[in-house]
Amino acid sequence: MTRAADAVLPTGLSDDEVLRLRADFPILGVTLNGHPLAYLDAAATSQKPRAVLDAERDFLERRNAAVHRGAHTLAAEATEEFEEARATVAAFVGADPGEIVWTSNATEGINLLAYGFSNAAFGDGDPALAIGAGDEIVVTELEHHANLVPWQQLARRTGATLRHLPVDDDGMLRLEALADVITERTRVVAIAHVSNVLGIGMPIAEVVAAAHAVGALVVLDACQSAPHLPLDLPALGVDAAVFSGHKMLGPTGIGVLYARRELLEALPPFLTGGSMITTVTLERAEFLPPPQRFEAGTQRVSQAIGLAAAVRYLDAIGMPRVAAHDRRLGARLVAGLSSIPGLRVLGPLEADRVGLASFDLAGVHPHDLGQFLDDRGIAIRVGHHCAQPLHRRLGLAASARASSAVHTTDAEIDRLLSAVADAAGFFGVRA
Ligand code: PMP
Repeated sequence: MTRAADAVLPTGLSDDEVLRLRADFPILGVTLNGHPLAYLDAAATSQKPRAVLDAERDFLERRNAAVHRGAHTLAAEATEEFEEARATVAAFVGADPGEIVWTSNATEGINLLAYGFSNAAFGDGDPALAIGAGDEIVVTELEHHANLVPWQQLARRTGATLRHLPVDDDGMLRLEALADVITERTRVVAIAHVSNVLGIGMPIAEVVAAAHAVGALVVLDACQSAPHLPLDLPALGVDAAVFSGHKMLGPTGIGVLYARRELLEALPPFLTGGSMITTVTLERAEFLPPPQRFEAGTQRVSQAIGLAAAVRYLDAIGMPRVAAHDRRLGARLVAGLSSIPGLRVLGPLEADRVGLASFDLAGVHPHDLGQFLDDRGIAIRVGHHCAQPLHRRLGLAASARASSAVHTTDAEIDRLLSAVADAAGFFGVRA
């Protein structure tokens, strides 16, 4: 997963560099329960550097206007900046600007696709995209609910069948099941690039090959890879992908749907209304070509501009170096956690990870552990992380998850490790 990054620069970011980067994040200066904040919950939502906060504020203070309408200068400037942001984000993932649709988050992007497929069954768009009875949609057992529930609902609306690729006792995809599950009936395969519970990359090349061999489309959930790995979506061979701005140092309220141009052209709209039409009569409407066909209503302009600033910030560091930094922190996290008696790290210990690990401390409810850490100024995520089927498969209702970002230091990981070890003592955990 991060091997390509290693070839470019094995060492990631130096300690000095991370300290300099930290100064860009105003929130890292706050104290939490009397301790300096150790923010280890970037996988839920990331903190924002000043460059992102300033980009949004500057736009709102000087150039705010609705885009793609109005003849005044502000509207023209806002439109130009909005489209420049699209081009910046497109370049970040190796795509053309016309293949990038703004959404409010990854969840909306997946719903846009799922509703596109069922709307095609009602005669909108290209009939070849219509999904119905006899067709199969494939997900994996480890998906985030955002990449599961919309497909369940699509199956319910259309009479299609939802199938899943199972995972093994470690939570890893059972590749030997590919041939059984992906068949001539498969129309869509939806899969996470990096699991938000394991922090481990999925075998996308194998899944793409199996899906394309039967003419199925591949939808990639890139929420947990876009912030951590260099991404070239066309090179991955996926047909569509989604990610959220707020997980990659950008604002909330902005997400991205990438889809191959031919797919976007064939896909009917999800949301309809203003800004996505050419001609409207009282009876019917003609739609604009993509990407505008999928951007109904007044757009989230400052958020798109903020996301472009986040992408420039990450690009200035260099994604291969971000990847190496995260991978090193992930390895430190797993090595430390797995040496705590009574602690189980989810997923195989030896696998490459982004800076993310979920774990279970025997007999301690993750919420109690989270509270213990919070009292020491350490913010992690506890719960099922919107992946109930995976937790169920691993025999758990919930787990604790720590995740890093570019500003995370070794010292913060070590603070977490010693606090978890103390918690094990405090709660009387036995190995
Ligand atoms: N997929 C994955 C893997 C995620 O981690 C998340 C966010 N937790 C989502 C999808 C959904 O992202 P959002 O809530 O921003 O739509």
